[in-house]
Amino acid sequence: MGSGRPPAISPEVVAAVWAAEDGRCEACTRPMDRRCAAFGRIDDRRPDRTAENLHLLCVDCKARRPDVLARLVLGGDVAARFTGQLPPEQVEQASRWLRASLRRHGVLVWVGREARSYWLPGVGRFRVALPPVGTATVVAVEWLAATPQLKVRPQARTRGLPRPDRQPLMTLARASA
Ligand SMILES: [Zn+2]
Repeated sequence: MGSGRPPAISPEVVAAVWAAEDGRCEACTRPMDRRCAAFGRIDDRRPDRTAENLHLLCVDCKARRPDVLARLVLGGDVAARFTGQLPPEQVEQASRWLRASLRRHGVLVWVGREARSYWLPGVGRFRVALPPVGTATVVAVEWLAATPQLKVRPQARTRGLPRPDRQPLMTLARASA
């Protein structure tokens, strides 16, 4: 690889920063599994990648991508479960609840190039397809229980550092145009 590639962050540092922030992105506050953790240097002029110089970031804030869950739709299986179990007037309400819950409380547990998995505590595991263009779609669900009950755990600790600026690049480009 080229010389511009930064040195790897040691597993100890990954664990320390992830634990210090209770697994929440310091830019958008969303939870993530440790295996999905991404990092950004706090002070770019410092070359070191120690825990003292690293922000914990989610993959989207790291890449300065817009929120991929902003326009999430439910695929066939997911919608079908609601349709089968709820009166018609509650289907749309349940869909809205699921989208909002995933966006706010979904723990990122796996990241692929064209799909992701989110864990919604007390509810289940959701696979989300990310097409190159267009809308993210919930394509598969492993429901944890017949009656899902969201269990949100408040963030237990943070170093309380100033929030890193990870505005999406598209927004910046538009703002300066
Ligand atoms: Zn983030």
